[in-house]
Amino acid sequence: MAYLTQPDYIKYICSCGQLKPITSLYFCRHCLKIRCGFCICHEVDSHYCANCLENMPSSEARLKKNRCSSCFDCPSCFHTLSTRATMAQPRQVVQDPAAGGDAKVESKQPKKMYYLSCFNCRWTSRDVGIPDQPVASGGWPERTNPFAARVNQLLDYYKAIALQEKQEKIERERKKFNIRGKYITLTDKTGLTGAMARNIAGLPSSDSSSSAIASFVPSQASAEVEELPEDFYTKEVNLNQITSMPQRLASPEWQPSSVSRLHPLAKLLSVKRSQRCRVCDHNLTKPEYNPGSIKFKIELLAYYHVPEVKVISQEPVRAGHKSALLLKLSNPTGHEMTVQLLQPEDLPPPEETEPKSIEKSLERSLNLDKDTSSYKAIERPPRYSVTSRVTSPGVTLTVAQRDDAAEYDDDAQHDTNDIIMWRKSNKLALRLEVDTPAEVQGGVPASAAICLQYSYRNTVPPAAHSALHRDHTLYTTVLIDLGTVSSN
Ligand SMILES: [Zn+2]
Ligand SMILES: [Zn+2]
Ligand SMILES: [Zn+2]
Ligand SMILES: [Zn+2]
Repeated sequence: MAYLTQPDYIKYICSCGQLKPITSLYFCRHCLKIRCGFCICHEVDSHYCANCLENMPSSEARLKKNRCSSCFDCPSCFHTLSTRATMAQPRQVVQDPAAGGDAKVESKQPKKMYYLSCFNCRWTSRDVGIPDQPVASGGWPERTNPFAARVNQLLDYYKAIALQEKQEKIERERKKFNIRGKYITLTDKTGLTGAMARNIAGLPSSDSSSSAIASFVPSQASAEVEELPEDFYTKEVNLNQITSMPQRLASPEWQPSSVSRLHPLAKLLSVKRSQRCRVCDHNLTKPEYNPGSIKFKIELLAYYHVPEVKVISQEPVRAGHKSALLLKLSNPTGHEMTVQLLQPEDLPPPEETEPKSIEKSLERSLNLDKDTSSYKAIERPPRYSVTSRVTSPGVTLTVAQRDDAAEYDDDAQHDTNDIIMWRKSNKLALRLEVDTPAEVQGGVPASAAICLQYSYRNTVPPAAHSALHRDHTLYTTVLIDLGTVSSN
């Protein structure tokens, strides 16, 4: 694993053309392609609060505006606020002796009271005059958004517009497929009517949506702006009393300008998401539902399936010279792998991916919650330029499978081979050379690309009708950052 502060010296070329380190790539076992965050679908599985680990369905999260009702962040430094308890002495009741009777001091039991405090910047809810609460969780005064009514109006209006457009699109597609005569619309096939589809999507019926459009009053721009106060330019500014922009924008409804108006921020919910290959729709990652768990049910990371390349050491790259390069190659899979180093131009052209079926695309457009823009698996040629070439590829290497027990072995096997410097369980060190042409200018970033052709054994049980076989030859190109070209 790489250090967080260390630059990524090795970048892999994703099937979409992006350059990424192996730790941010996925591997689809069904398409047998590397995928990155840009060429996969991200789906929200569950919402949860990262502080109290309460999880909730998305409908409830939407209702709570994606915020936890019992946890708060500091409005001053955004650290999580802690609940603190103090013993409060209730007010003593002193009876006036003049009113008759003896002077008597009535003392009550002290009572536990709670307030919110930030352990990072020492902000407390008492600073802004929020009264202490008798219960530890919840019950904190809520402020209502002064523009709540208008915001809701706008929301209804946009929902109605979205629904209208969606209906028009479904209508259009239905007509298109009916003319072709081949296709039974999904509505006919499943008995799903337009009204039911709207219901499923949680959208209002068409009558109420058209009334929302009709009754909507658009905002009016006005040239009149409130005057600034007279002393605006002369009054001395006390920076301790005014809020910073991040503090203001953390509560967009109020945007307090003075620190005395800061209010605890209800903590934003986090989501667990699963990721799906956009081409074949299979899951690439799927987390466990329990918010306390950091494990995954499905975790197809490139780190577990694609040979990993690391730079051990290198000589400075000089124009017109050859320099040594030591690379480490590891096989992360449970099967022996043969790896061949090729020049990038020897890479076979990517085969065409078949377009998605019409049925699937209509299914998508009916599913109103999902992204409806149809995605084409475009294999873009990667855009990169290299200054140098790795000279000694063309060899075939055999890399043993991963063996967790071998981690404890100290001895590496030193080969006498020209290329392999040593091998140790599933890793081997390669002695390579980098050739930099004389016309490369000094001072520019030096890099080289190398293509790996590797054998991959698929452990997914093949589906009934698919032509998946177990052993494959796959290709991946890596870009090696070699520092800068030295000037002589
Ligand atoms: Zn796939
Ligand atoms: Zn990608
Ligand atoms: Zn919480
Ligand atoms: Zn704070």
